[in-house]
Amino acid sequence: MFPVHWYLIPSLRDASPVGPYYSTGFKPVKLYATTKDVRAWPGGTGGYKLGSNYAAGVVPQQQAAALGYQQILWLFGPEHRLTEVGTMNLGVAFSRNDGSVEFVTPPLDDMILPGVTRDSILSLLRDHESGKNRLEGLPDKLIVSERQLTMPDIVAASKDGTLREIFGCGTAAIVSPVDGIGYQDELIKVPVGEDGCGDIARVMLREIVGRQTGDILSEWSFPVNE
Ligand SMILES: *Cc1c(COP(=O)(O)O)cnc(C)c1O
Repeated sequence: MFPVHWYLIPSLRDASPVGPYYSTGFKPVKLYATTKDVRAWPGGTGGYKLGSNYAAGVVPQQQAAALGYQQILWLFGPEHRLTEVGTMNLGVAFSRNDGSVEFVTPPLDDMILPGVTRDSILSLLRDHESGKNRLEGLPDKLIVSERQLTMPDIVAASKDGTLREIFGCGTAAIVSPVDGIGYQDELIKVPVGEDGCGDIARVMLREIVGRQTGDILSEWSFPVNE
């Protein structure tokens, strides 16, 4: 007999969670929403993992760091559409009047990198939404949307108390909760739980790490003989 190991789908195989999330809880980050620098544009290469896309981020990132922000929130267009956080995709949750929660991530168009983590999160949340696989800790009534979001939407939701959480997502950290956004000389407050994290990001971290380690069995993992 050969020992059985759990391997993950190739796209998640080299994913490794970053340490601080386990030892000291979450460290939420503050984002600097830049309206001056642009990361990607329609018809450009922003949807691909190309080295040339990252050079444009170096100087804005240093400027944001000098102002006390950890990451850039990349905006696009005159309406200040949200696109990505640093080199992560973006997730936002809002409370709705009917008691449900809407999870929103911007559509890929050809500007946003189609991250594996984004895709994994959409798939987990949609299975919860449809009832195929309910996940403990997520809002009972969850609506999953790929739609455009603008900074005025975020500012309004922060003011009227319907903004629930914002996080970046990518292979390295899996989720990176956000507790504030610097935008047009204002700091927009974003809620986080006592552990520094929102409900959706917290459950997504647990579910994705569980699948990476094999503690949670799923169709993303399969046994192989060594
Ligand atoms: C790598 C990357 C992501 C996240 O992709 P993952 O496959 O989830 O790691 C998001 N945006 C940009 C710009 C990236 O380079």
